[in-house]
Formats: sequence, structure tokens, C-alpha cells
Amino acid sequence: MDGEASRIRIAHNQSTFRDANERIELSAEKMKLYGSLVPFICECPREGCSELMRMTLDEYEAVRADSTLFATVVGHQDLSVESGAARVVEEHEEYVVVRKIGVAGEIAKDRAGDLPELDESERQEL
Ligand SMILES: [Zn+2]
Repeated sequence: MDGEASRIRIAHNQSTFRDANERIELSAEKMKLYGSLVPFICECPREGCSELMRMTLDEYEAVRADSTLFATVVGHQDLSVESGAARVVEEHEEYVVVRKIGVAGEIAKDRAGDLPELDESERQEL
């Protein structure tokens, strides 16, 4: 597979999981699940991966705060790392945080700009 195409596909896939996880995050906030472990969907590029990793809202928000950071189930960071789309920045018991690099990082940033809940000042920081 062409390296560039595969990196772009990986970036788009992971942004889709991010949308699902944002909905999980909103529901968990409504239920005031602060401090509890909430199941989020693995944000790795494996097709059809729907494995869950438990994170607190604070932990998830720390990853979400940076549009180039993504969380995956332990072991699922391999594909992105091997294709050169990301590198590991944090390893936890239930999840790994990866940072998108190169074109994958650029796409992640573009997609973040589309999010309706971002106000203008936040958008300028991206
Ligand atoms: Zn996965």
C-alpha cells in the first residue's frame, strides 16, 4: 500500500472514532461520572476495531485537548507507529497515547477545526 495514502486513511479513521468518543464523553459528563472509569472506543486505525479502553473523563480530556493526540488500547498503537503516522507519547495500564505526525497530524488538526463546539479563540490556537 502507498505509504502516504495509508497514512491519510489512518488519520481519517481515527478522527471518526474521536467523534464517537466525544459523544461518550458528553454522556458521561451529563451523568457526572467524574473520577470513574468510562469506556472509550480505541482510536487505532484497525478496520472495525471497537475495543474499549477505560479512562477517566480527565484522562480523556487531556488527550482530546490536543487535536494531534489519540488514545488506543495497549498494543493497537503499532499500525500507526509502524506506518510513520504517529509516535507513542504516553503508556498507561489500559491505553496508550500517540501523537500524529506529518500529514496524519495535519488532517487531525483540520478535522478538529470542523468541530462545532470550538469557539473562535480555541480555533485560532489549533
Ligand atoms: Zn484498536
